Amino acid sequence: MKALRLLEWKSEPVLTEVDEPVPGPGQVVVRIGGAGACHSDLHLMHDFEGGLLPWGPPFTLGHENAGWVHALGDGVTGLEVGQPVAVYGPWGCGACERCRLGIETLCENPAAAAVPMGGGGLGFDGGMAELMLVPAARQLLPLPEGLDPVSAAPLTDAGLTPYHAVRRSWSKLAPGTTAVVIGVGGLGHLAVQIVKATTAARVVAVDTRKDALTLATHCGADLAVASGPEAVAEIRAATGGRGADVVLDFVGADATLALGAGVVRPLGDLTIVGIAGGTLPVSFFSVPYEVSIQTTYWGSRPELVEVLDLGARGLVHPKITTFSLDEAADAYTQMQAGHLEGRAVVVPGR
Ligand SMILES: [Zn+2]
Ligand SMILES: [Zn+2]
Repeated sequence: MKALRLLEWKSEPVLTEVDEPVPGPGQVVVRIGGAGACHSDLHLMHDFEGGLLPWGPPFTLGHENAGWVHALGDGVTGLEVGQPVAVYGPWGCGACERCRLGIETLCENPAAAAVPMGGGGLGFDGGMAELMLVPAARQLLPLPEGLDPVSAAPLTDAGLTPYHAVRRSWSKLAPGTTAVVIGVGGLGHLAVQIVKATTAARVVAVDTRKDALTLATHCGADLAVASGPEAVAEIRAATGGRGADVVLDFVGADATLALGAGVVRPLGDLTIVGIAGGTLPVSFFSVPYEVSIQTTYWGSRPELVEVLDLGARGLVHPKITTFSLDEAADAYTQMQAGHLEGRAVVVPGR
């Protein structure tokens, strides 16, 4: 079968022919219906090198996946061939306290996982292929009625990551509050929808690109602000001078973190989601009183159940451009150039 593989660090992925996977005991092979192209894959291609991570190439890309059960290994129960499923992407050991809570992102025994601190498309063969081996049946969530694999795939990361971030700040998003979403790309446009669907907060979206601001408005943002020297004043004016209760930074560069710190209100949350690697000086007087500055990483399996429900009910609806497996490398080129709107999803059967 065909697969888009990263063969070594600091290289472009290559479409190659590989053997079809066969499920061992407890494992499942999924026929991929959709595999999202994530901005973090660009970091895998360009920024990482040997020794930084406990895993490395070669592996098939694609860490946000959904499809249909294709083959069941011995002992797998509760799933049927042909059933539509989403793949929960972060794979832990399955046995530690965090994994038992479904928070496999924070597994405390990663050495016992299929790939330490990784998952499908992250050290282990992912979903940019016709078939994908999932090493433990617990990582598959049946799709609720009304949700197809193409729409479900981006929900497993581009949806789950902002959902987890927003959920952590729910108590600060009461009526009368404001959430600022910085960066309206694959994750940010879903963040706008998730805040609107699960809280009563107003949403201010910020981006450098005009198209992204239009997308934010279509996604329900109450105000779309062009980033630049005026952005802090504009957001402050829009909140009656008070500032934002929650800032979600989907970029994470020096400039966006400074913007976040400039608009966050006392007692607010400033959450760093994007991995651009920027820094923000933090000291007692550098941010307003009682502001919490936090990072966030992906999400839990129970949270993915909730995101899939939002997706099935149309409350969260990814903006998708589809690519065939032959065009998959092109999806990344367009992403790199900033030409993609929303999420690119590779559809192997297309
Ligand atoms: Zn990702
Ligand atoms: Zn674990």
